[in-house]
Amino acid sequence: MKPLISRGRRDIIQSLLVAAFALTGIGMAQAQVSDPEIRERTSTVYTGDLINGKKVVSSLNTDDLEAGKKHLLYFRGVQMSTGQYWYVSVIVAKGARPGKRITLTSGVHGDEMSSVHTVQTVMSKLNAAEMSGTVMAVLDIARPAMESMQRRWPSSGRGFELTDMNREWPGNENGVGAVSRQAGLVFNRLLRPNSDLAIDFHTGTTGIDVSSFHIGDLSIPDVKTMMMLYPVAAIWDNPVYPSVLHNAFIDAGIPCFTPEVGVARRLDLDAIPIFVEGTLNVFKHYGVMPGPIGRTAAETNAFIGKNAVPVLTTHGGFIELLVKLEDNVTAGQKLAVQRNAFGEVMAEYTSPVSGRIGGLRSDATSEPGNVLVFILADGATVSGTATYSE
Ligand SMILES: [Zn+2]
Repeated sequence: MKPLISRGRRDIIQSLLVAAFALTGIGMAQAQVSDPEIRERTSTVYTGDLINGKKVVSSLNTDDLEAGKKHLLYFRGVQMSTGQYWYVSVIVAKGARPGKRITLTSGVHGDEMSSVHTVQTVMSKLNAAEMSGTVMAVLDIARPAMESMQRRWPSSGRGFELTDMNREWPGNENGVGAVSRQAGLVFNRLLRPNSDLAIDFHTGTTGIDVSSFHIGDLSIPDVKTMMMLYPVAAIWDNPVYPSVLHNAFIDAGIPCFTPEVGVARRLDLDAIPIFVEGTLNVFKHYGVMPGPIGRTAAETNAFIGKNAVPVLTTHGGFIELLVKLEDNVTAGQKLAVQRNAFGEVMAEYTSPVSGRIGGLRSDATSEPGNVLVFILADGATVSGTATYSE
């Protein structure tokens, strides 16, 4: 049975050893991948506007674009409070010949810059004239969050609100709030109609650095194929929350997963090449571009874990971490010491499981109740499941 975490259910906190970690209750149903042939298609609608010399669309069918070329477009998203629109940057590399349609998304969280840079870099390496199939990149989906370099989308529903867009998919064009509507517009008019396969790029978040790893469900054959084509350090074999973009794709019959491209806010120049190489491997495997497959998860001996076990701070204070990202740890191993302003030890934290360090708090201080460390671990070693927020 797959672990399943439903929205609003992250409410059961249990202490274990010195650390506390959050357990989540129910399991998510096995995702079903349906026949892609039955998915609805949409037509391309040009609004007639040009922004920075680029045509604006309010819906897109990549079949309508000229083959053998790259196309730079703006997609018109939801309106702002001023009556203007949030536009989303779209690059379509339309191959000279037909083939798989692969969609790359980034910027669902606004502080995850390496996700955008990975997609930009991948697109820069494509020559549409020698491609079979189509690659569509959608770069800045939660643009207001990106403008302020923060995870969540600022909106005005009940005063100023911050909404995590990766708990809103597939959205609703007529839903409550601008974020749900943006998700609905982007998903219905851009992503779903133009994708056979999809990859939704993320990074760690402000406050938590992460290693290079994937989140996805290895039981879905194309998800497994794609994830294993990356030379990553680890794979978290878990579908996570129903409302994340990769699960909206899967529910629509489009295999998808979430790569985590290192740390938030700045460009992680160690992690980005890993994900560029892996994404080009995916294109080569599915016949979209020619060339030999590069390094894969087999070469990096990627650690595969069913759980991402968090260790929460029990006190406030200054943190001295005793482990690094990608370290292997054993149950009971000391992870961190926390001191007050006098330098007195307030808490020592140990690992509740054996596994590999997937994430570490990046700030030197913490209040009680924050994620200090999360450990990718095998499902047999812990009864709960994961709380890492992609
Ligand atoms: Zn994210």
